[in-house]
Amino acid sequence: GSTIGILGGGQLGRMLGLAAAQLGYKVHIYAPDAESVAAEVTAHHSQAAWDDEPRLAAFAAACDIVTFEFENVPVDTVRFLSGHVAVHPGVRALEIAQDRLAEKAFVADLGGRTAPFAAVPDRAALDSALAAIGAPAILKTVRLGYDGKGQARLASADDADAAWDAIGRHAAILEGFVAFAHEFSVILVRGIDGEVRFWDSSVNVHENGILATASLPPPSIILGQQDEARAMMAKVADALDYVGVLTGEFFATDAGPVFNEMAPRVHNSGHWTIEGAVTSQFENHIRAIAGLPLGSTACGPLPVVMRNLIGDQIAEVPDLLADENCHVHHYSKTEVREGRKLGHATWVGFAAGPPPA
Ligand code: ATP
Ligand code: MG
Ligand code: MG
Repeated sequence: GSTIGILGGGQLGRMLGLAAAQLGYKVHIYAPDAESVAAEVTAHHSQAAWDDEPRLAAFAAACDIVTFEFENVPVDTVRFLSGHVAVHPGVRALEIAQDRLAEKAFVADLGGRTAPFAAVPDRAALDSALAAIGAPAILKTVRLGYDGKGQARLASADDADAAWDAIGRHAAILEGFVAFAHEFSVILVRGIDGEVRFWDSSVNVHENGILATASLPPPSIILGQQDEARAMMAKVADALDYVGVLTGEFFATDAGPVFNEMAPRVHNSGHWTIEGAVTSQFENHIRAIAGLPLGSTACGPLPVVMRNLIGDQIAEVPDLLADENCHVHHYSKTEVREGRKLGHATWVGFAAGPPPA
């Protein structure tokens, strides 16, 4: 059988690996970290550095198709692999998604709505950016932020020094603070032939900068803005000749959907699709990169609630297992750390919490 290579060893790689196995593929994980919860469910694992070219070449030779589950895989790694094996999505999508300035400029050029933003390469640029954008605002590192890390909020220009220090004085982007009603994501899959399918958008609730829940049906403001946001993300996917699952995060505002960021991969807010849709985001990603027909993205019974199990919340697993309506996912990470995503739970056709009497 064919082998699918996955760059990155986290829970997204684990769920991609399980979906690939279901479709008859062998899976090979390549990740530098000693702990790889993805490698635990697959037969082949290369634990090697992102710049280890001999190991990368051997990995490429062992795989028929390569993909990634982690958007901070160095672009040079993917470029090197692309010289040896088919890699989907491509280098360009990864490059843009790794750079918040490039990402917002790319979407704005395609006609998308973003928060007002300005480049902040150094401390002096922060003053001019604040003068142009005003407060409140958010300062974010251009690269490597996730789960709200590498961000600082500014209530006024008086917070400039503190914000600059808080993000570690890295090259940054200043964004105007968007007064949004709700957050949602558009998750699409684009096939090798350019066919695009969308899952329904959930409402995404964040706590302390980390996704807490994704629920459907979403409030009506999201339903009303979903089509425009989808059209935007389809343009992005087409412009990149994208193959696989692509996620766009949006704010629902009075002015319409505001694009926040994209992830060139399966997304936490799409975990509900495992039990809640005909075909999950993981399975359709594998189908897309393998050139197979895409599966239906239709949802099953509503409501759907996906709740992340973060840090100590993983201790709720026994109770969740006792809830007959709950689908429990435990990522088997060895270290329980505050703010770490350790599992998730999904209810399909039942609201989270005790089932209706
Ligand atoms: P992720 O884990 O989703 O990759 P991230 O660290 O890349 O997160 P963002 O998604 O840009 O960061 O921001 C995290 C959260 O902070 C957003 O989901 C939103 O709640 C809030 N936020 C970010 N940018 C803005 C903005 N310009 N205006 C208002 N709120 C914002
Ligand atoms: Mg992000
Ligand atoms: Mg985000």
